[in-house]
Amino acid sequence: MNYLFCDLDDTLFQSRRKTPDAAGVTIAAHGPDGLPNAFMTAGQRKAFDAMFGAMTLIPVTARDRDAYARVQLPRAPFAVIDHGGIILDAAGQPLPAWYERSAEHARQAQPWLEDLHREATQFLGEEGLSVTSRIIGDFDLPFYWLSKYREGHEQHLDRMERELIIPWVERRPHQAWIHRNGNNLAVLPRTLQKRHAVSFLLELLRQDDPTLVSWGMGDSLSDLPFIMECDYMIAPRRSQIATLVSEHAA
Ligand SMILES: [Mg+2]
Repeated sequence: MNYLFCDLDDTLFQSRRKTPDAAGVTIAAHGPDGLPNAFMTAGQRKAFDAMFGAMTLIPVTARDRDAYARVQLPRAPFAVIDHGGIILDAAGQPLPAWYERSAEHARQAQPWLEDLHREATQFLGEEGLSVTSRIIGDFDLPFYWLSKYREGHEQHLDRMERELIIPWVERRPHQAWIHRNGNNLAVLPRTLQKRHAVSFLLELLRQDDPTLVSWGMGDSLSDLPFIMECDYMIAPRRSQIATLVSEHAA
């Protein structure tokens, strides 16, 4: 069997703002309000159909259960959601063994996630920045801290990243790591990474299929560790990963 471990947002599809206005654009996901909010170009749709005709898709996404449920995808045997915090089975239920592991790690991370949220909220108030601060959880577990800028205030998020978040994480190198891509600034426990869940699933799948071939596909630098668990890598041409590679391939 060939398995494609595949990131979703900005890999298979993207928001309306990032989708070129051209013929053949199709809907890929809906927002909580029921309106379409993610789209595939005709080229993405062709690539999608070719890959999923040849491989078994395993989505690997930061989306939570509800946001994942709003994506239009073929049925998958497993899905890695919440940045790796939860692995869903084919029926959409969390794998108990993985959930137990995540629950233990979430309990350990909760106090410092709450500290960070408090410090960020105070910083935003004092500096008057138009940026959100939230702890993101799912299935009753707190997973990570997330911040986004409001309409047009990207520099506010850049400033908080530089002045508060980077120094904060540098003081806790064994505990936390940063994911930043566009309007997502997240601080996650080291134990919460897509890579850990993909590695767990590969081991599980190899029990039945020792010669399986795995493909990893994603756009963000933070996808690289899980992609490197796989036999082959695929990345969109316009992505953090492609930019990194082009710097070395000139
Ligand atoms: Mg992505």
